[in-house]
Amino acid sequence: MTDLTLWLPQAVAAINRWQDEYDGPGTHPSLVVDDRDLEAAFIALTERLTDNYPFFSPRYVGQMLKPPHPAAVLGYVTAMLINPNNHALDGGPATAAMEKDVVARMAAMFGLPQHLGHLTSSGTIANLEALFIARESHPGKAIAYSADAHYTHARMCHVLGIEGIPIATDAHGRMDLDALESVLVNGRIGTVVATLGTTGLGALDPLPEIAALARAHGVRVHVDAAYGGFFSLIADDSPDGVASAPFAATSLADSIVVDPHKHGLQPYGCGAVLFSDPAVGRFYVHDSPYTYFTSDDLHLGEISLECSRAGASAAALWLTLEVLPLTSAGLGAALRPGRRGALAWHALHQESEVLAPYQQPELDIVTYLPRRSSMSAVDATSQAIFTGAAEGAPAEQVHIATYGVTHDQLTDRRHDLQMDAPSARILRSVVMKPQSEDAIPGIHARLESIARTLA
Ligand SMILES: *Cc1c(COP(=O)(O)O)cnc(C)c1O
Repeated sequence: MTDLTLWLPQAVAAINRWQDEYDGPGTHPSLVVDDRDLEAAFIALTERLTDNYPFFSPRYVGQMLKPPHPAAVLGYVTAMLINPNNHALDGGPATAAMEKDVVARMAAMFGLPQHLGHLTSSGTIANLEALFIARESHPGKAIAYSADAHYTHARMCHVLGIEGIPIATDAHGRMDLDALESVLVNGRIGTVVATLGTTGLGALDPLPEIAALARAHGVRVHVDAAYGGFFSLIADDSPDGVASAPFAATSLADSIVVDPHKHGLQPYGCGAVLFSDPAVGRFYVHDSPYTYFTSDDLHLGEISLECSRAGASAAALWLTLEVLPLTSAGLGAALRPGRRGALAWHALHQESEVLAPYQQPELDIVTYLPRRSSMSAVDATSQAIFTGAAEGAPAEQVHIATYGVTHDQLTDRRHDLQMDAPSARILRSVVMKPQSEDAIPGIHARLESIARTLA
């Protein structure tokens, strides 16, 4: 295992060597602090940071959270010691080149024949940029997204002053094609958003069919793969891979969003937006008297809505992809164990007397519920399992999440529950760390035993 206690001093030493060529960084009395003060504050910091959920633990299978890969930490910290700004080549020529490199690798992963794109602070900003281009290229037209799409689409439509139209989902949590077509025929839609890996269920919208319908109606396609994009590396229909068809169709997209800070092993904030038509760069055109003077090459700020961005994010992703490339055997090998864990857990739910699967996982997100006869009992028991599992000694705790569903959504999935409430919380787990695969039987046993005591 890569030991950061050995590598981080090397980062400092390497940057110091470069700074020494310029007489070093120098200092000033106003910047000098007493090491004893720093030590006291540092101890307070490390103590305060223990008020966290153990995201690193194999038994943390709650939200989409995990520590970055050591290579990402090393890349980030090393570049951060210089603190380049990827807004302009004036601010960070080396890391801007790394950003263009990693963006090209991600475009190739999605099969885009040509591309324009950049990293962003987050999937939210990346989607905002994609919807901004949607608006500029199809002014006055609405944007359609599934009812299970990330809430950011409705919100950013509001921000951009675009009409947003939610499309019903089917019994698998995928965009319903008949519902989409019935909206496309009225001619109001300019762009349809397909989600590859919904945030709640990890469902894959049927992209080949969506793209065909969209093309037939002269509508653009934006793919929100913030969560699921890197599963493209294992989209091979194998027992521990995922469905190939939705990912094979990403080459048809007009724009794609992927979050390296979700499944790309990166620290926050690292999102990315990619466009298949480099000519959309014209919609970003702006004047800046302050920047863009050191080079005629493309400055990333010329094709981005954000100005300052951490060059360190690009360095972190670049170093990570040098050692874990965007291949099935590279980063893909870090995704398969979570996929296997999700499928094995789903099988345990099918056999369980106290927990039932909500739906078949398409990626590594598992949803399940206590076997109860009414909505209110499912809700109360789910909440009790969620809190009970997180209690106890650190080595016993299991961290999961809850997920809100309606009576109709449960009925669609053949859970016939007495409707004494319109909605209920069920249980949801994201098996996004490879280390969690081996922990699944133990996690499941603990949740089952809590469910039994609540019966
Ligand atoms: C996480 C997520 C987003 C939002 O991305 P952030 O990086 O959290 O801002 C958007 N869409 C999907 C599908 C996501 O999973």
